[in-house]
Parts: sequence; C-alpha cells; structure tokens
Amino acid sequence: MESIFGYMEKYDYENLLLCQDKALDFKAIIALHDTTLGPATGGCRMWQYDSEMDAIEDALRLARGMTYKYAAAGVNLGGGKAVIIGDPSRKDREPIFRALGKFINRLGGKYITGEDVGTTLKDMEYIRMETEHVVTLPTYLGGAGDIAPMTAFGVIWAMQACCKRVYGSGSAEGKTVTVQGLGAVGHNVVEQLHEHGAKMVVTDIDSHKVDAMVNKYGVDKVDPETIYDVDCDIFCPCALGAIINDDTLGRLKCKIICGSANNQLKEEYHGDLLEQKGFVYAPDYIANAGGTIYDTDRLGVGGVSHERGKEKVSRIYQNMERVFEIADRDKIPTYLAADRMAEERVREIAKVKKYVDELKP
Ligand code: NAD
Repeated sequence: MESIFGYMEKYDYENLLLCQDKALDFKAIIALHDTTLGPATGGCRMWQYDSEMDAIEDALRLARGMTYKYAAAGVNLGGGKAVIIGDPSRKDREPIFRALGKFINRLGGKYITGEDVGTTLKDMEYIRMETEHVVTLPTYLGGAGDIAPMTAFGVIWAMQACCKRVYGSGSAEGKTVTVQGLGAVGHNVVEQLHEHGAKMVVTDIDSHKVDAMVNKYGVDKVDPETIYDVDCDIFCPCALGAIINDDTLGRLKCKIICGSANNQLKEEYHGDLLEQKGFVYAPDYIANAGGTIYDTDRLGVGGVSHERGKEKVSRIYQNMERVFEIADRDKIPTYLAADRMAEERVREIAKVKKYVDELKP
C-alpha cells in the first residue's frame, strides 16, 4: 500500500483510527469500512506485524471483508476490524484489552468488536468491562458461547445448496465428503454430516483427532497430503487457507468444494480455473458465515435465541442459491458472484435508508 488515503478512496472506507497508550505500550488500529447496513463489526486481531503499514493494510483489508460477509449473509451490520500490534502471547491482557475497550466505547457503537486470531473469549471479557460493543462473549455474559457448531451447521446448508445444483437434490445423504481439518469446525461438520447419512474420509495433522472421529463415526482416514487425491463428491476444507492452488487443482476429484476455511483460493485466478474445470465452489465467506450470523443475531433484539439463530443460519442455503443465480445471470465464477451479491445489497439498502431519512422532519 503506497498511500493510506489512496487505498481508502479506492475501496471507499469511512474511517481509520490509530490508538496508542505509551504507558501500556499499547498500539491499535480500528478500521471502519462501510456502515450502510449497520455498525461496523468485526473481530480484533493481535499480531506482531513487520511494519505499521502492514498492520494498517491488514486492518483495512479485513474490515472490507466483513462488509461483504455481513452484506452477503443478509445481516444488518457493516464491516470493521481492530488490530492490536503486539506479540499475541503477551501476558498483560487485562490492561491491553481494557484500553482497547475504552477506545471502542468512545466510538459510541459505530464499531463492534469480537474475537479473532491472537485473541480469546477471555480478552473479550476484559473489553466488555469498558464497553458493551463487543460480540463473541461467553454465555454467562449474555453471548452465544462457542459458535463453531453453528459455523459447521451453515457449511452443511451451503453444501446442500451445492448438491441441489450438481445432483438435483439438496441432500448430502449417501454423498462421499472429504473433510480436511478436525478442529472446532471440522469435528462438528463430521458429527452433523454423519446425521445426514454422508460417507466421510477425514484427515488432520493431529492423529488423535483423526482417530477420535474414526472410532466415533466409523469414517475413513487418509494422510493430510493424500486428501486432495481422494475420489469423492464433496471436498470440505476446514483447516488452512490457500488450499486451492496450482498443485491441488489438478488433483481434486470432487464435484463440489464447500468448507469453512478462510481464503481457500490461493489467488483469484484459481477461482476462475475452478469454474472453467466445472467444479461447483461455495465461496468461503458465504459458506462459513454461520457462526457470525448466530453470534451477532442477539444484537438489537435483546438476547440469544437458539431457534431464531439457527433459522437465520439455515438461510445460507438461499444465499448460495442467489450466488448461483448471479453467477448464471452474469456468466461469472461463484467467488465473483458472491461479491456482486454483497455489493448489490449494500447499494439497494443505501437507497432504502435514504428514503427513510427523507421522511424524517
Ligand atoms: P481449529 O484451529 O480449531 O482447527 C483447525 C484444524 O486443522 C486443527 O485440528 C489442525 O490440526 C488442522 N490442520 C492444520 N493444518 C492441517 C493440514 N495441513 N492438514 C489437515 N489438517 C490440518 O480452527 P477452526 O476454528 O476449526 O477453523 C477452521 C477454519 O475455518 C479456519 O480457516 C478458520 O479461519 C475458519 N473459520 C472458522 C470459524 C469458526 O467458527 N471457528 C468461522 C469462520 C471460519
């Protein structure tokens, strides 16, 4: 990034805040991308960046990603992100996160934070001591608690929409699914897919996690490197990013790629290649939005409701159908169609907001 304002103008950011407290050795960045749909919302990342510019660019890039994620998910929130520059294993958590909480509070609800890479639910508790503008809280603080099961639930709804497109029936029953990564989301995907009657081949670099799934659900296992070569219907990446790349593209034998991992395409052109080769690809931020949808559902409606949250997560099925409609309409790959769906919603709702504002005295 050569110029901060140049970058902000290019992608139409609203605000960038630099926060520091010398006594605490605290430096943080809060980026607000677009608040058309609602308060800028997105987690707080803690990372030791190579440079301040890298940290600013990361905050800006991630904030914009959140605008798209919420817009495409049908959630009434805008995109934002906070970044604390520092070693994520730093021990003085309470003062650091309370300091961030104070800065967030000053924004008066324009930005809502949450957990992200390098931060924990405990850190969110410290932020909550200074401001109410925080999600991803434990249940005893009025939050939704562990959201990974809902992320998995959403992935499976996306998978069912993909099955409908490929096989004509929106069911994973009898399908063979390869699951890469059996962590918080992956093991929930296996548990839920088992209930749907899918066959599974799983992998993880942690053999204990693999053996637990094999013993509990009778799934097959392969080595981490072999997962791309397995003959299957659906590949479900729930571990790393950049797993769709020059090496794996020629090896995949599935028809559908649908999983929770963030940034699955190494480069954008890998999304174009997936389309050309006839794969059905569920864009990551559409398929993995379940936890976020569930987690933020309580905002403005007075508390967590499991039934309402689940219902909203299940709409990922319709979101995927809309992605396919736009892809067909505009003859573009699904990863671009998802962006277009998000942009169209922000544009449309901006018109509605204007209309409502005009009615005000
Ligand atoms: P996690 O750390 O709990 O699990 C990741 C698992 O992947 C671990 O078990 C790890 O051992 C395994 N793994 C790492 N490298 C691997 C490899 N090369 N091959 C196979 N397995 C490997 O993380 P998570 O919360 O389950 O998230 C998984 C992915 O989904 C991440 O990309 C995350 O950003 C994304 N995601 C998660 C959520 C959520 O609700 N947790 C929401 C949206 C997106």
